[in-house]
Order: sequence, then C-alpha cells, then structure tokens
Amino acid sequence: MAGNNTKILKKANTYLVLNSIISAESITIEDVAKKTKLSRPTIVNIVKELTERDIIFKSGYAEYTGGRLPTLLSLNANAYYTIGIDFEFPPIRMVISNLKGEVIEKRGISVDKNATRNEIIQAMFEELDDLIASSGIAKEKFIGIGIGLLGYLKANEGISIEILRILDWKDVDFKSLVKERYNLPVYMQNDIHMMALAEKRLFLPQIEGDFAYIGIRPGIRSGIGLAMYINGSFYGGTNGNAHLLGHMTIDLNGAPCFCGSKGCLESIAGEPNLVMRYKRLLGEDLDNVDIHSIRDIYARALDGEATAKDVLDEAGSSLGIGIANVVKLFGLTTVVIGGPDSELYTSIIRDHLKKNIFKYMANDLEIIVGQLQEDLFPLGSCFLVIDQFFKEPRLYL
Ligand SMILES: [Zn+2]
Repeated sequence: MAGNNTKILKKANTYLVLNSIISAESITIEDVAKKTKLSRPTIVNIVKELTERDIIFKSGYAEYTGGRLPTLLSLNANAYYTIGIDFEFPPIRMVISNLKGEVIEKRGISVDKNATRNEIIQAMFEELDDLIASSGIAKEKFIGIGIGLLGYLKANEGISIEILRILDWKDVDFKSLVKERYNLPVYMQNDIHMMALAEKRLFLPQIEGDFAYIGIRPGIRSGIGLAMYINGSFYGGTNGNAHLLGHMTIDLNGAPCFCGSKGCLESIAGEPNLVMRYKRLLGEDLDNVDIHSIRDIYARALDGEATAKDVLDEAGSSLGIGIANVVKLFGLTTVVIGGPDSELYTSIIRDHLKKNIFKYMANDLEIIVGQLQEDLFPLGSCFLVIDQFFKEPRLYL
C-alpha cells in the first residue's frame, strides 16, 4: 500500500512539475518550486528523470542574480509525436504533430461517396500507413492517435454508433480497430469539438471564460455543430454528443429532417437544404441552375440578387435564433462562429443573434469569427492526445 501511495504521489508531482515547465517557454527550478510548492530536492529528482527521458532539456541560463547561474528548463517538443485524424466523409484529413502541436506532416483523402464501411476504413489505414512511413518518425516516438468523428458516438467506449451518410456504418468499434492496427492509445471525440479545440489553441488562447463554438462550415460536413467550452474544457456530454446544434428544433411545423425529427436548424440552414430551396425559389429547371454550394449563393447575394439574399436571410435568421438559445441557456458573453467564410452571411447571423437575446446580453456579447482552415481540422485531435499525455504521465513516465 505504502509503495503504491509513493508511486501515486510521484506521478502527481511529476504532473505538477511538467505542467509548470510546459506553461512557461523556459523556467528555472526555483520558479518551478514557487509554482508547485514542492521541495527543491523533489523537483531536482523529477527534472533528472524527465531530462533522461528527453521530455525536457536544459535550454539556457537565466539572468545572473548572484551565486550559480540558474539553468532554464524547456519542453523538448520533438521528444514525441502524435497523429490526429479528422474523419469527415468523404474527406478524411490527418496530421502528425509534435508535443507543442506543431504540424510535421499533413494530408487528406477523399473517399468514394458510395464506398462501404470496410472500404473507407481500409482507405484511411493505407493513407495513415503511408503518412507515418513518409514522416520518417520511429514508431516508438508516437504517443497516441486522436480521432474527431462525425455522427452519433459513444466516445468513451470508442464506438461510432451511426453515420447516416455511410449506409452500412452502424455500431463500429472504431477505437479498437485503430488500436489493434497501430498498437497505440487511441482517443475519440466528436469532430466539432476537435475543430473547436484546434481553433482555441491556435487562434484564441486569450479566451479564458466560457464560450460556444458554432461550426457552420460550407461543404458536405452537415454539422451545424456546437462545442461548449465550460470551466476550461470542452463539454462533450455523457457520450460525447453535445454537439448536435443542427438538430435543435427551430420550426415546429418545419420540413422533415434526415434525423427523423422536423423543423431542425439543419433542415433550414444546412447547405444541401439551403441550395435546394434557393433553386426552387428561382423557379427554374433545377438541373439548369449552376448552383452547387452555399458559396455560389454568397456570390449571387453579393451581386445584389434578391432571391439569394432572401435565402441567406432566412437561414441566417434560423441560425441566429439557434445560437441565441445557446447564449441564453449558458449566459455566454463570447461566441465563436467557425467558418461561414462570408462576411455578408456572418453579419446576417450576428444581427439575428443579437435581436433574439436580451439587450444587456447583446451589449456584453462578443462574436468572434473563427480562422481555422480545413487542412488543420485534425490538429484538434493531436491536442486531445497531447493533453492526455501530460495529464496522465503514469502511462509514459
Ligand atoms: Zn434533425
């Protein structure tokens, strides 16, 4: 028992020391002691072990203040690497990053839309094998694989319950499949939360309070998705499904949604429905209208076309109401809108959002437009692994 307790204490102390080094670019043992309240000999022992394992290194000397020059310690970002996957469909994107989340290699594939579950998984594995091989990084240098997955999940169990746009995708034990092939720890979360995590780390480190990230990227990614950042971390719900903002009911008498409900935000503002409604309103032969995406509608609205503007206004109004409900529910003062990539559309959403919350809430609300681009979506899954690595040093130290 005593031995076990000593071990646990050592792990906890290692965690404290490591995190104080990570949160500073470089730091002296004296400053680690101030931050952690641990004794100097305890820190020196931990530092020795972390240095031997190459996780930290002596990066220089602090300014001379009398006595011996104090050594500076820093994280060795290239001690280990992680793999992140953004499993959208048909695109599947992947990156390799170091411990600081710096991208080493990245790539993406687009799988045939009619592919079966097994064909899709096989295509992903082959690309991943190739990515690992071309990086030249030794297998033992990888600390884990993170996956951001669309659809309905049991994230903790690593099960993907359903992806509607892949016909034979039901109850797939995705985590086990990846784990068996690569023999690495595998972590899974919904894709919107992984995008939000990457956005936060790369572009919004200054946000300390709660915020909602609303993912409304154009493209087949049918998620009008939500990631709630509460008390310093993203809230996934019991099974990791706290992201389905697109299926919030907005119109009680609305059109049926593919989820089985009706009047969902998705059925009004989701890209395929938006494009279809626009074509119908034009009243032209649908096949002859050269409109395939929401970006085409942005372009026409900017040219001053009234129908395009009306359609965007209707969708933006629904989104504004949906986001306003989230703001009121959580008392938020910050909302991040990820990826409408149209200033016109963003301003429509912003106007409707502000109209649908109390005036004083609107005054306090900061609306930020996200900057994350598609090729970096999988980086969030790298951060998921890195966070686990530093949170659970017992696995590695
Ligand atoms: Zn729905």
